[in-house]
Amino acid sequence: MVGESGIGPRLYTRKVSAQEAREGYVLVLKDKLSFFPPVGSPFRMKHGSTTRKVKVEAIPCTCRGPEKRHEHYVVRWSGLKEGQAVTVRKDGSYVLSASG
Ligand SMILES: [Zn+2]
Repeated sequence: MVGESGIGPRLYTRKVSAQEAREGYVLVLKDKLSFFPPVGSPFRMKHGSTTRKVKVEAIPCTCRGPEKRHEHYVVRWSGLKEGQAVTVRKDGSYVLSASG
């Protein structure tokens, strides 16, 4: 690929779950956190002709029970539909596309 830096993948892809669609966010898997700016740092993400200021947020979670508290990482993004394939491309800026 032209311009490939080799510092890791330039794409983050994910299928939107029912919960993500309902609550308006894209889950960021922990091992893919480095794809995005540090947790809490605002950045711009473009989708079509809109650009929104977003950030990766850590949300406390008890889905594995009260004894196993942990955090989930999300980027809030409303308007996604369950089952859509979301792709975030990093190429100087972040660009989100959704299909399906
Ligand atoms: Zn959880």
